[in-house]
Amino acid sequence: MKICVLGAGVIGLTTAWCLTEAGHDVIIVDRHASTAKDASAANGGQLSYAFVAPLASPATLRKLPSLLLSPDSPMRIRAGLDPALISWGARFLLACRPAAVRETIAAQLALAALSRSELARLTQSLMLSFGLRTAGKLVVFRSRNEFDSARRAVTAKADDDGQQVLTPAECLALEPALRLDAHELAGGIFTASEQVGDCAAFCAGLTLRLRGQRNVEWVLGSEIAGPVRSGGRLVAVDTGKGHVQADHFVLCMGAASGAFAKACGFYLPIYPLKGYSITLSPAPEARLLRHSVTDMERKLVFAPLARDRHTAIRVAGIADLESDTIIDAGRVEVLRRASAELLGIDAASDIEPWCGLRPMTPDSRPIIGWSPLDGLFINSGHGMLGWTLACGSARLTADMIGCKPSVTAIGAFALRRAA
Ligand SMILES: Cc1cc2nc3c(=O)[nH]c(=O)nc-3n(C[C@H](O)[C@H](O)[C@H](O)COP(=O)(O)OP(=O)(O)OC[C@H]3O[C@@H](n4cnc5c(N)ncnc54)[C@H](O)[C@@H]3O)c2cc1C
Repeated sequence: MKICVLGAGVIGLTTAWCLTEAGHDVIIVDRHASTAKDASAANGGQLSYAFVAPLASPATLRKLPSLLLSPDSPMRIRAGLDPALISWGARFLLACRPAAVRETIAAQLALAALSRSELARLTQSLMLSFGLRTAGKLVVFRSRNEFDSARRAVTAKADDDGQQVLTPAECLALEPALRLDAHELAGGIFTASEQVGDCAAFCAGLTLRLRGQRNVEWVLGSEIAGPVRSGGRLVAVDTGKGHVQADHFVLCMGAASGAFAKACGFYLPIYPLKGYSITLSPAPEARLLRHSVTDMERKLVFAPLARDRHTAIRVAGIADLESDTIIDAGRVEVLRRASAELLGIDAASDIEPWCGLRPMTPDSRPIIGWSPLDGLFINSGHGMLGWTLACGSARLTADMIGCKPSVTAIGAFALRRAA
């Protein structure tokens, strides 16, 4: 079969690879002249297989007024009365129910486990080099309430997945790069098995392997203007370089997926959640992080990333409900100040500021499955965990298109489950 992958971010590229492995002819279309130029370019670098809690939760709901009104908040709305945001927001409120959160965590953990084994398989079989390392992840909590509920969740787990509950002093001993006083922390959770890796370097390596495949065609530098239908079926996409035809299409257009779905005649609840990163490179020797660190209160992640001959520190976070990709110096300053405070790194220049749009669904679960339009499959909406979940989502996509049975509960990711 000839399958056209719409979008060449980490989701489109992994999807394209799994489809070629399954023996399909693949065409990859993207508006940029090269791959992974949008949300997959400079994300937090965390492969977060154990921490998959959704943004929508009773705790977020409780904190929503202060989150949206405080000027220093990691979350901001600038969209005004955007009707798309209103319907997304209504679904977000429904997804805050405890039962919905439990369902999401179970589904995401299964997809994360599949992703981990698929990433290991691809890394090994394609000899990809992107600084993949089992660095372990330390989540530090400043709020006693948040720490207590996280601690209860760890101790209630039936399976021993190696998570450790730490006192403030133990957190600082484990990660000497942290320039915090013990009294500033309530405690931490350390997960030794979590990984880090450079998503852009992974995409570059995968692009090279795809370029070596005879059954892969590229249509880059071509904006997809809309769908071309015939007899109620998607038969082509209209691009600046003419119509691109295929038997099936897979929608992997990240935060732009919702607009394409709308042009196809159905609603896809994916809204952009703008985030920022800075990269401190090379990291000063004494401030080198041994593990990746998440500051739960500030919703910021710090990851040590291997780059050529040195280690850099990627600092990422912020969740603004905005759809432009203009870098706001004030938001970059939040990350710079946090690096100075947490790691003692006072970076004045060369911090490589970047922003990207996370494709967010209301319940934070990706949408993977056939769309209401014949011929169009969806693999999009991976939100805050697209790097973590890419390889498993691609496997699931190729299996579903090939009508193969899957070990993962596919109903949990179907479009119709989205509230
Ligand atoms: C600040 C930040 C930190 C993050 N940290 C992490 C992390 O630590 N761990 C983690 O797992 N995830 C993280 N993420 C999330 C992750 O980066 C995303 O979920 C993931 O990159 C989404 O990939 P994608 O391929 O769906 O989208 P994208 O990478 O945005 O790719 C979509 C592609 O579609 C193309 N496209 C869109 N519209 C059109 C059009 N009309 N015509 C042609 N082409 C089009 C774009 O050019 C783009 O190449 C982070 C995200 C951000 C923003």
